[in-house]
Amino acid sequence: MSTAVLESYPTAEFDIPSDISAEFGAREEGNHAVFTIGQKTFRLDKEKARARMAGKRVINGERSAELNVLPLKYHEAYRIYKQMKANHWEPDVIDMTKDCNQWNSDALSPKERWIVEMGVGYFSAAEGIVGDSVLHVIEDNLTAAELKHASLRQIAEESIHMDSLLHIIGSLNIDIDEVTAKFQDIPSIRKKNAFITRHMPELKRGMDLTQTVDKQKFAKAIFGITQVMEGTQFYALFAMILSIHRQNKMTGIGQMFQYTLRDESNHIALGRYLLEQLVKENPDIWTPEFREELVAFMAEGVELEKEFVRDCLPEDAVGMSLGEFLSYVDYNADRRLASLGLPTLSNVKENPFLWLDEVIFLKKEKNFFETRVTEYQTSGSVQNASEDDLI
Ligand code: MN
Ligand code: FE
Repeated sequence: MSTAVLESYPTAEFDIPSDISAEFGAREEGNHAVFTIGQKTFRLDKEKARARMAGKRVINGERSAELNVLPLKYHEAYRIYKQMKANHWEPDVIDMTKDCNQWNSDALSPKERWIVEMGVGYFSAAEGIVGDSVLHVIEDNLTAAELKHASLRQIAEESIHMDSLLHIIGSLNIDIDEVTAKFQDIPSIRKKNAFITRHMPELKRGMDLTQTVDKQKFAKAIFGITQVMEGTQFYALFAMILSIHRQNKMTGIGQMFQYTLRDESNHIALGRYLLEQLVKENPDIWTPEFREELVAFMAEGVELEKEFVRDCLPEDAVGMSLGEFLSYVDYNADRRLASLGLPTLSNVKENPFLWLDEVIFLKKEKNFFETRVTEYQTSGSVQNASEDDLI
């Protein structure tokens, strides 16, 4: 995907090609547009398909209760949806026996125990905040079916992530009320959550998306949830848990966090794509002042995140350097900003945790279902990730 496309969009006009084959990659047969995707052939009434295509917008488009994604306009959203589906996993089949034994012995240092507790405490709240905000603020305002479809899949994945935390809490026999109460008292967590949810009650009450100011609020919410929170504020603690996992400790939790992190990379990609398409269709959003507002919002998110990182790891521990985690925050913030054509905030150009990218990438090669019960695996649901194969 092009990364700097948001900088200049000359027009909000929509092309409605007169040539249906160019529009859908379809061939015309009388009144039908016929197109073949993978193994399947679809016949759509040509005029209805054309009208449906013309009504598709990120916001303020035609709404259809049927959520019919065809004909596809936003191909990248559908590709991300397919990727998300191919990465499907289930928390409760992950074996926690070893984690449980380690948790109840002296296998972990006090610093490592604290990080695991912070991981459970923070993400128990954070996954719910993301799911709730995507549902009520983002998905609800999208109008094109394939965008809603991808967004709904994200909401389902946030539920899986919440479920994975319950699996951890239940397996380790952690007192859930104690964990929640403890974490409500940690200022850096409270501040992080309050910062992200600051405008959500107002946005949930409804926006007038014909007005530039409300379109900007909507764009900022997508940016805040997917680029600042999921894309920046999730990663340092993920990296700490996976550093512990790398030392062969709490490997069940580590595995779940690997799968979660892999899911988050799709949520970040979807958020970026939604923003790109939204701005392409509504260039009035992307003023210099608004771009500055987004960068300032990220800067605030980075400050709060660094405070949180210091709470998680007050000093270096075995295999973990505080300085590297702080650099990782800068590195992630900057790559989210750069991917949207926005100016970066720091001088950190190198990823301090190349091993982490490798871990996530390797896990992408390995399918969750290969070594597990596969009764609900259907043919084509797992191996194929491309839009062509899967429709
Ligand atoms: Mn999540
Ligand atoms: Fe997410």
